[in-house]
Amino acid sequence: MSNSSRVLVLNCGSSSLKFAVIDPLSGTLELTGIGEALEQNEPTVSWKIGGEKKTSPLPANSGHREVIHFLVNNILRECPNLRDHLVAIGHRVVHGGEKFSHSVLVDDAVIHTIRECVALAPLHNPAALQGIEAARSAFPYLPQVAVFDTAFHQSMPRHAYIYALPYELYRDHGIRRYGMHGTSHRFVTERAAELLNLPVNEVNIISAHLGNGASVTAVHNGHSVDTSMGLTPLEGLVMGTRSGDVDPGLLMHLGARLDYGLKEINDLLNKKSGLLGISELSNDCRTLEQAAAEGHDGAQLALDIFCYRLAKYIASYHGVLPQVDALVFTGGIGENSSLVRGKVLSHLGGLGYVLDEARNGRARFGEDGPISTEQSAVTLVIPTNEEWVIARDAAGLVPPTSPNGDPSSRE
Ligand code: AMP
Repeated sequence: MSNSSRVLVLNCGSSSLKFAVIDPLSGTLELTGIGEALEQNEPTVSWKIGGEKKTSPLPANSGHREVIHFLVNNILRECPNLRDHLVAIGHRVVHGGEKFSHSVLVDDAVIHTIRECVALAPLHNPAALQGIEAARSAFPYLPQVAVFDTAFHQSMPRHAYIYALPYELYRDHGIRRYGMHGTSHRFVTERAAELLNLPVNEVNIISAHLGNGASVTAVHNGHSVDTSMGLTPLEGLVMGTRSGDVDPGLLMHLGARLDYGLKEINDLLNKKSGLLGISELSNDCRTLEQAAAEGHDGAQLALDIFCYRLAKYIASYHGVLPQVDALVFTGGIGENSSLVRGKVLSHLGGLGYVLDEARNGRARFGEDGPISTEQSAVTLVIPTNEEWVIARDAAGLVPPTSPNGDPSSRE
């Protein structure tokens, strides 16, 4: 990899495609953009390059393929300095099942296996496959690399990932806990090791990724040993619109007593619960903080429950790990909400956590550092950077014989 190497990172959601061109050595974002409202009436693509923002409509019902086409034929055509230095394409893939514990170069067998995991991520894996197929035909000369959200958690021991259900459900249908946000937890682990001056394979942390989706992971010697998300991203913490852990008996109660069907239960738990459901106001932490400060009881309750439930997970992971070198906050809420961080630590005094108010107030806007006092159990804020991990993995997997972005070897 040379200093001028660049990686195109693609993150395909069910109705959106985020893209970025990144310098894998420094993590510098050269180009970022998003195609939105895909396969709907008025899809658009927006991008930012050199501080300049642009937006363009796409034809009605455009999908992932059309966004990639626009990226190649419009955006990158005007930026040959980026296009000609692309050495690889990195794809975020949500679910790799038990097949992938690391990022891999995409070939037909990998595509087949990602397809086999569609049942585990029915909204996300098909979108990733569309992105991979479109990128393969748009950039046939570039290696494609798949980076899995589940991969980091493949190191979990059986006692952490098997549900207490009939074992045949695992054996015959792969029903187990997989965990998500692995790319973020991995980034945070590596960065925490740097900040703590420890080798990655000796670092023990509890990593709390708190965004619209949220999960917390126990990391032992650099490896995930437990995490709060399970078979799906619904398990675990309270999230923006997701309930997190509930009594499974609730599902029967909703069906038998309140006449809910499966789709309604799915909508209830995934889209109408969490911060939004409790507050009856918003899933957005900023809105809730402001409303709570103005006396909105629902907003206050939602924040209280969010922090309390997270603190319980953190406390339980102290029982999982032989020692904890640091508790780390990341994600939109973890990086920015001094209120949430302070509230969570206020539950954890018994475990030696003491907030440093001044440090906590200063820690935001993309900087990492401690928010606890010198005497406290160490607590850090580390802005996550999943795109950079994807870019690094992709660049690291470029075969030595690859054309390495040499434009003369194209098409
Ligand atoms: P993410 O999914 O990682 O983009 O995080 C989204 C969440 O971060 C939303 O709930 C936002 O309200 C929250 N967030 C972003 N900035 C702030 C902030 N300055 N204070 C509190 N919450 C924030």
